[in-house]
Parts: sequence; structure tokens; C-alpha cells
Amino acid sequence: MANYERIVKSIEEENENLIKMAREIHNNPETGRNEFIAVDLITKYLESKGFKIFRGVGGLKTSFMASKGEEGYHVGFCAEYDALPEIGHGCGHNLIAIASVAAGVALASAIENQPGRISIIGTPDEEEHGGKVDLVRLGVFDDIDAAMMFHPDCATRIHIDSLACRDYKFIFHGKNAHASSEPWEGRNALDAVIQTFNNINALRQHLKDNTRIHGIITEGGVAVNVIPDRTAANFLIRASNSEYLKEVVEKVINCARSAAIATGTDLEVSESDYPYEAMLSNKVLGDTFAASLDEAGYSVESKHDVGIGSIDMGNVSRVTPSIYPMLALTDEWVPRHTFEFASLCDTEQAYEVMLTAGKAMAITGQKVINDRELQKKIKEDFLNQLDQAGE
Ligand SMILES: [Zn+2]
Ligand SMILES: [Zn+2]
Repeated sequence: MANYERIVKSIEEENENLIKMAREIHNNPETGRNEFIAVDLITKYLESKGFKIFRGVGGLKTSFMASKGEEGYHVGFCAEYDALPEIGHGCGHNLIAIASVAAGVALASAIENQPGRISIIGTPDEEEHGGKVDLVRLGVFDDIDAAMMFHPDCATRIHIDSLACRDYKFIFHGKNAHASSEPWEGRNALDAVIQTFNNINALRQHLKDNTRIHGIITEGGVAVNVIPDRTAANFLIRASNSEYLKEVVEKVINCARSAAIATGTDLEVSESDYPYEAMLSNKVLGDTFAASLDEAGYSVESKHDVGIGSIDMGNVSRVTPSIYPMLALTDEWVPRHTFEFASLCDTEQAYEVMLTAGKAMAITGQKVINDRELQKKIKEDFLNQLDQAGE
């Protein structure tokens, strides 16, 4: 039997089990770093398929690596499985997880007794504090030669861009006073935070395209008749590349500094330890996936105009050639991070796209594992892109 047929057969034979797992993850949404049900379900299944399981790789409670094959080119499939608070699987990570599981199992059965290594990497907490940032930092991706995953969406794009993103918290310390009888005694931390937003709004016109700054006030004072002595705001700052992002971050911090000076308050700045890098989509690997997707029979036509966000796969793409194709589940406009998208991610239609994505990733892996020339081209594109990104 040809490898391609083995892949299709392997996924078709497991259809019911795969859909059952995706549905179970969907029906038990778990937020980042708490995905115990999902990890238990997936690792038990992969163990039953002969994969060696390493739980907690990179020191996270809900990460894992499941591997098969001893030597040769190492293909990694990333499985995300975290959900959004309240909305549940409104980003469709139940589909991502099982597409990667399907791809890994099918590829392993297709190349049995041939050189080549296959790993499914369980990567927790994509939505908030990118688990992949931790895993990359701790070297989990170091010996992976090519990494892939798919993401469900309402528009199809194979070679995606993403924004580099940093997460800042500003705390303003002022001085309490009676807001009516002795306001002159106070230093107003709420005015400082409001002025920070106004300064940032004045800055926007002068920023390059695709720069995003969005914030919320997380502490705004406790009583109307007391001048607030402490307020806090949280901002995500994004740009097309990390270098320009550094400049923007400095300008945003200056907005907060000048607000503190104007209001006589003191500013405390802190950054989250989870910066997201802009994605370097590997063109050669992406083209190979696009051809494989055709072979797998993907048929949703959807060309909605969608925006750009940030993903922790960007960090993976800096250490190994990576792709992150977005595949539409429907030709209708159903944006992610909504209850509607969460419902869509538990439909037959969605599960069909998940299995097709799994087949396409396995076919891609099989082509790459068997073709030294292709491996070389993937590596060249990776090194070129890193070079252009100045790394
Ligand atoms: Zn999301
Ligand atoms: Zn997502």
C-alpha cells in the first residue's frame, strides 16, 4: 500500500475515536495551564498507538511530548487545547489538538520501519501566557526539524503573518484625599491613567501600519469621594516585527511617564514574561502543505477579509521551520472568539475539516521525511527568513 493511502486509511479507520475526543475536549473547556482532561485523553490515546509519552516537558503541568521513531528527520505537530474563559472553545483548539493527533498517528503508520521521527507536542495556554514561549525557552523544539499545526477560522490562508506582541502593566501611585473638602491635598492616580490613554491616542496617528495598542483599566479607584491613590492599566502592544515593536513600547512607556509627571504621581512599569514573536511562515513547507491539502480534498471556499493577531507559534518559527495554516470551517462569516464560533467547532462540518487538516499535515510530513532535497529547501528558506528578520 502506498504511503498516501496508508495515511488516508489510518485516519478513516480512526474517524469515530478522533471525533469523540475532539467533542469531549469541546464539551469540557479548560483554560490555559489547566487542560488536564484534554491532556489525559490525548496522551492515553497516543500511548495506545505506541507513542512514548513524556509528560510535563518544559516544566509545565499540562504539556507533553509523544514521540515515535528513533532516528531521521524529526517532524513535530503542535496540539493546542486551551479554551477561553466563559466562551469555551471559541477558538477551536479542540480541532487543532485532534488534527495534530490524527496527523501524528497516520504519519507514524505510513512510515513504519523507515527512518524518520514523529512527535506530537502538547502546547498549553495559547490564549493568555503562551505555553510555547516556555517550551521554546526550555529547548523543547530544539531537535524538531519542521513544526506544523492548523488553526480553524472563517477564512483560508496558508502563509500567515502575525504581529509581535508585548504585554505591559502600568501602576500609578498617588495620594488619597477627600475629593470635595481638601482635593488640593491629593494626587490623582485615576487622572494619570486617563491621561495615559489620551497620550496613546495622540500617538496612534504616527505609528506604522499594523501597529496595535489596546488597554483596559484594571484598577480605577475605590470610592467616588476619595481621590484615588492607586490605579492600574494593562496594555497589549503589537507591531509587524520585534525591532519596531521595541520603539513603539518605548513611546508607550513615555505616554505613561508624562502622565505621571503631569499628575504628580509615581509610575511602576512591569512587563509580562511572555513576549510573542511575529510568525515566520516557512514558504516551502507551506507550499508543500497547500498541495497536500488539495490531495486531501479540502473543499471550503472562503475568502473573508480577516485581520491579524499574535500567536505563540511565532516563537516556535524562530527556532524551527514552521507553518500555521488557517482553514475556514464554513463559507459563512463566523469570527473567532465568539459563542457562535464555539458552537461551530462542535459540528460535523468542523470535524470534517479537522480530519482533512490531519490528513494534509500527515501527507506533508511524509513528503518531507522522504525527500532530502525538500528538507534542504525548507532549511534554506528558514535561514533566509531569520536573516531578513535580523536574527
Ligand atoms: Zn484564540
Ligand atoms: Zn486560537
